Amino acid sequence: MERRLFGTNGIRGVANSELTPEFAMRVGLAVGTYFDGGRLLIGRDIRLGSQMVKRAVEAGLISAGATLYDAGVLPTPAFQYATKHYGLDGAVIITASHNPPQYIGIKVTRSDGVELPRREEIKIEEIFFEEKFRHVAWNSLKEVKKLDGVLDVYLEAVKGHVDVEAIRRRRFSVVVDPANSVGVFSTPRLLRELGCRVYTINAHIDGTFPGRPPEPRPENLTALSQTVRSLGADLGVAHDGDADRTLFSDETGYIPWGDKILALVGRKMLEEDSGLLIATPISTSTIVEDVAREYGGKVLWTRVGSVVVSHAMVESGAKLGGEDNGGLFYAPHQPVRDGAMTVALLLDLLAKEGKSLHELLEELPKYYIVKDRMECPMELKEKIVEELRSRVSGERIMTIDGVKVWFGDGSSILVRPSGTEPIFRFYAEGKTPEKPKQLVEEYKGMLKEIISELKAS
Ligand code: MG
Repeated sequence: MERRLFGTNGIRGVANSELTPEFAMRVGLAVGTYFDGGRLLIGRDIRLGSQMVKRAVEAGLISAGATLYDAGVLPTPAFQYATKHYGLDGAVIITASHNPPQYIGIKVTRSDGVELPRREEIKIEEIFFEEKFRHVAWNSLKEVKKLDGVLDVYLEAVKGHVDVEAIRRRRFSVVVDPANSVGVFSTPRLLRELGCRVYTINAHIDGTFPGRPPEPRPENLTALSQTVRSLGADLGVAHDGDADRTLFSDETGYIPWGDKILALVGRKMLEEDSGLLIATPISTSTIVEDVAREYGGKVLWTRVGSVVVSHAMVESGAKLGGEDNGGLFYAPHQPVRDGAMTVALLLDLLAKEGKSLHELLEELPKYYIVKDRMECPMELKEKIVEELRSRVSGERIMTIDGVKVWFGDGSSILVRPSGTEPIFRFYAEGKTPEKPKQLVEEYKGMLKEIISELKAS
């Protein structure tokens, strides 16, 4: 069996049972060995296991010769920005992002703040599993240096990409729900500096996440939409546990998924740059491509996963990226998901368009979406995808991650195996409510047929 440390977003586990201090110290040794010591930023979120894991990782990193710059407790994108800004060799960030409260994680970035690609993670895994740790001599052990002012530098950079005066003139009122986590440090302050009237809910730091789950999903955010409505606010903002993802509530309390915000921000950027390339996973709505086409821009479809999107942006020069889950990537700032940057971009858009978020959302093409799943034997996944590919037909077919088929009437379906669970996921959309339901039924039938044939052969 393949031995792995890294999942799709770093190393994750339940604090103190899966991710113990002993384990974390060895991860620190492996990462420090990989960087040959190096000058590394270290930072963490507010989770209950976060400080324990950070100290253990630090011990390993120092033992391997690293010089550590402690940036404190802040949103992940602030650490990523600071790593690039201060010219450090990389960063080790202790966070479990949107995972449930009991989890903690370790994320490793390179000098531009982007998480390591898979081929580099494999090098760290080799060092870890083969215990090829580097231990420096006693007189080369370094003390941790404090890195102050990261939040200032980060927020100044974010503001540098938007029309601050135009936003200030509008005096927006905004409700923020940072999920009792690190988003409380960045977004309320950013909004005040942009002249907004700021209200907060779930805004005291608490690693048990008493207010709502750390993952922002429309169904978790009813308190936010109710508060927006009862205060008559212009906008609601919800972040995940490390404030790199953002969902918004419009003034009516409606909370769209991130694809619509990506389409709106993309449309605005396309007005100024018709050659714009937008990177987004294959699971994102065609709405983004509709908007891009209208202005002559293009969509770069990628495999599902935020690190994949970041690397695709760096390689292709795409200025904008986004995910359905609320991750928005703005390369002129940094090609990673960034919660505060997303808020600033949306306010800039609202200020310049002179319309409310609800009005802007109404202007977008309409799609009906159905998501579903089906169980399947883990070992058959690859064969199923192969077989499915040979049976489907449509206007356009892509197989970068599962099988996606677009049809002439604007409808599409993606059938994709989960990387971790024994299931296939279905994402269908169409111009009528019936169309995506019909597509999911049809493709589930096809998958069942393929599975029973493969089992029989
Ligand atoms: Mg996150």
